[in-house]
Amino acid sequence: METEKNSEQLKFEGSCYCGACQFICEGKPLFRTLCHCSICTRISGGVAVPFVGFANESLEVTKGLKNLKGFKATERMERFHCKTCSSNVYNQSLLPDRLFRDTSLMNFKRDDQGRIIDLDQLKAGSHMFFSECQQCFADIFKTDGLVKFSTMPGSTVISNGSSK
Ligand SMILES: [Zn+2]
Ligand SMILES: [Zn+2]
Repeated sequence: METEKNSEQLKFEGSCYCGACQFICEGKPLFRTLCHCSICTRISGGVAVPFVGFANESLEVTKGLKNLKGFKATERMERFHCKTCSSNVYNQSLLPDRLFRDTSLMNFKRDDQGRIIDLDQLKAGSHMFFSECQQCFADIFKTDGLVKFSTMPGSTVISNGSSK
Protein backbone atom coordinates (compact mmCIF):
# COMPACT_ATOMS: atom_id res chain seq x y z
CA MET A 1 0.00 0.00 0.00
CA GLU A 2 1.20 3.47 -0.82
CA THR A 3 1.93 5.65 2.16
CA GLU A 4 1.37 9.38 1.91
CA LYS A 5 4.41 11.43 2.81
CA ASN A 6 4.33 15.07 3.80
CA SER A 7 5.96 17.34 1.27
CA GLU A 8 8.75 18.27 3.71
CA GLN A 9 9.56 14.60 4.33
CA LEU A 10 10.13 13.86 0.66
CA LYS A 11 13.73 13.24 -0.22
CA PHE A 12 15.01 11.64 -3.38
CA GLU A 13 18.55 10.55 -4.23
CA GLY A 14 20.05 10.38 -7.68
CA SER A 15 23.31 10.16 -9.58
CA CYS A 16 24.87 9.90 -13.00
CA TYR A 17 25.54 6.44 -14.43
CA CYS A 18 29.08 6.09 -13.04
CA GLY A 19 28.27 7.61 -9.65
CA ALA A 20 30.90 10.37 -9.79
CA CYS A 21 28.10 12.97 -9.55
CA GLN A 22 25.37 12.62 -6.97
CA PHE A 23 22.47 14.80 -5.92
CA ILE A 24 19.51 14.96 -3.59
CA CYS A 25 16.12 16.53 -4.16
CA GLU A 26 13.89 17.57 -1.30
CA GLY A 27 10.18 18.26 -1.30
CA LYS A 28 7.47 17.69 -3.87
CA PRO A 29 8.51 18.03 -7.52
CA LEU A 30 7.33 21.23 -9.25
CA PHE A 31 6.59 19.26 -12.42
CA ARG A 32 6.91 15.79 -13.88
CA THR A 33 6.71 15.66 -17.65
CA LEU A 34 7.99 13.60 -20.57
CA CYS A 35 9.73 15.93 -23.03
CA HIS A 36 9.73 15.04 -26.72
CA CYS A 37 11.51 18.17 -27.97
CA SER A 38 14.23 17.83 -30.57
CA ILE A 39 16.91 19.14 -28.19
CA CYS A 40 16.21 16.67 -25.37
CA THR A 41 15.81 13.69 -27.68
CA ARG A 42 18.95 14.45 -29.67
CA ILE A 43 21.12 15.12 -26.63
CA SER A 44 19.84 12.04 -24.76
CA GLY A 45 19.44 9.73 -27.75
CA GLY A 46 16.15 8.59 -26.22
CA VAL A 47 12.55 8.59 -27.44
CA ALA A 48 11.72 11.25 -24.82
CA VAL A 49 13.13 12.42 -21.48
CA PRO A 50 10.99 12.15 -18.31
CA PHE A 51 11.93 15.33 -16.45
CA VAL A 52 11.31 15.93 -12.77
CA GLY A 53 11.60 19.59 -11.82
CA PHE A 54 12.46 21.15 -8.47
CA ALA A 55 13.07 24.63 -7.08
CA ASN A 56 16.76 25.62 -7.46
CA GLU A 57 17.48 25.18 -3.76
CA SER A 58 15.70 21.80 -3.63
CA LEU A 59 18.04 20.00 -6.05
CA GLU A 60 21.51 19.94 -4.56
CA VAL A 61 24.64 18.32 -5.98
CA THR A 62 26.22 16.42 -3.07
CA LYS A 63 29.17 14.89 -4.90
CA GLY A 64 31.14 15.65 -8.04
CA LEU A 65 30.35 19.34 -8.52
CA LYS A 66 33.73 19.80 -10.24
CA ASN A 67 33.07 16.76 -12.42
CA LEU A 68 30.13 18.49 -14.11
CA LYS A 69 30.38 20.21 -17.48
CA GLY A 70 27.75 22.70 -18.60
CA PHE A 71 26.31 23.08 -22.11
CA LYS A 72 23.86 25.72 -23.26
CA ALA A 73 21.85 24.39 -26.21
CA THR A 74 19.66 27.50 -25.84
CA GLU A 75 19.69 30.68 -23.75
CA ARG A 76 16.92 29.21 -21.61
CA MET A 77 18.68 26.21 -20.12
CA GLU A 78 22.16 25.05 -19.17
CA ARG A 79 22.58 21.27 -19.17
CA PHE A 80 25.13 19.69 -16.86
CA HIS A 81 26.78 16.39 -17.77
CA CYS A 82 29.19 14.14 -15.89
CA LYS A 83 32.67 14.54 -17.39
CA THR A 84 33.36 10.85 -16.80
CA CYS A 85 30.28 9.01 -18.09
CA SER A 86 28.51 11.82 -20.03
CA SER A 87 25.17 11.32 -18.26
CA ASN A 88 23.00 14.42 -18.09
CA VAL A 89 22.93 15.01 -14.33
CA TYR A 90 20.65 18.05 -14.15
CA ASN A 91 19.58 21.12 -16.08
CA GLN A 92 19.47 24.70 -14.82
CA SER A 93 16.76 27.05 -16.07
CA LEU A 94 18.28 30.44 -16.97
CA LEU A 95 14.97 32.31 -17.15
CA PRO A 96 15.13 34.91 -14.34
CA ASP A 97 11.37 34.75 -13.79
CA ARG A 98 11.23 30.97 -13.88
CA LEU A 99 14.22 29.49 -12.07
CA PHE A 100 14.23 25.76 -11.50
CA ARG A 101 16.40 22.69 -11.92
CA ASP A 102 15.28 19.47 -13.50
CA THR A 103 16.70 16.01 -13.88
CA SER A 104 15.67 12.84 -15.65
CA LEU A 105 13.57 10.31 -13.78
CA MET A 106 16.16 7.76 -14.93
CA ASN A 107 18.83 9.35 -12.70
CA PHE A 108 17.03 8.48 -9.47
CA LYS A 109 18.16 5.71 -7.16
CA ARG A 110 16.98 2.17 -7.87
CA ASP A 111 16.35 -0.81 -5.59
CA ASP A 112 18.02 -4.24 -5.90
CA GLN A 113 15.61 -5.20 -8.68
CA GLY A 114 16.44 -2.07 -10.66
CA ARG A 115 13.12 -0.36 -9.91
CA ILE A 116 13.25 3.37 -9.28
CA ILE A 117 12.48 4.09 -5.62
CA ASP A 118 9.38 6.26 -5.05
CA LEU A 119 8.48 5.97 -8.73
CA ASP A 120 4.89 7.11 -8.14
CA GLN A 121 6.13 10.44 -6.76
CA LEU A 122 8.50 11.01 -9.68
CA LYS A 123 6.92 9.51 -12.80
CA ALA A 124 5.64 11.75 -15.59
CA GLY A 125 2.08 13.06 -15.40
CA SER A 126 2.06 14.66 -18.85
CA HIS A 127 3.87 14.93 -22.16
CA MET A 128 5.39 18.15 -23.52
CA PHE A 129 6.47 19.04 -27.07
CA PHE A 130 4.43 16.05 -28.20
CA SER A 131 4.13 17.74 -31.62
CA GLU A 132 7.82 16.83 -32.07
CA CYS A 133 7.34 13.16 -31.22
CA GLN A 134 8.36 11.02 -34.20
CA GLN A 135 5.52 9.18 -35.93
CA CYS A 136 6.99 5.75 -35.25
CA PHE A 137 6.90 6.39 -31.50
CA ALA A 138 3.71 8.45 -31.08
CA ASP A 139 1.49 5.34 -31.02
CA ILE A 140 3.37 3.97 -27.97
CA PHE A 141 1.93 6.80 -25.89
CA LYS A 142 -1.53 6.92 -27.49
CA THR A 143 -3.42 5.15 -24.72
CA ASP A 144 -1.44 6.15 -21.64
CA GLY A 145 -4.14 8.61 -20.56
CA LEU A 146 -1.66 11.45 -19.97
CA VAL A 147 -2.20 14.99 -21.26
CA LYS A 148 -0.13 15.68 -24.36
CA PHE A 149 0.82 19.35 -24.75
CA SER A 150 1.88 20.30 -28.26
CA THR A 151 4.74 22.43 -26.89
CA MET A 152 5.15 23.86 -23.37
CA PRO A 153 2.75 22.77 -20.60
CA GLY A 154 -0.37 24.89 -21.00
CA SER A 155 -0.15 24.91 -24.81
CA THR A 156 -2.67 23.22 -27.14
CA VAL A 157 -3.46 19.67 -26.12
CA ILE A 158 -3.04 17.00 -28.78
CA SER A 159 -5.88 14.51 -28.50
CA ASN A 160 -4.78 10.93 -27.92
CA GLY A 161 -6.21 9.70 -31.20
CA SER A 162 -4.75 12.27 -33.57
CA SER A 163 -1.04 12.52 -32.92
CA LYS A 164 0.81 12.97 -36.20
ZN1 LIG B 1 29.19 9.87 -14.25
ZN1 LIG C 1 12.96 19.04 -24.19
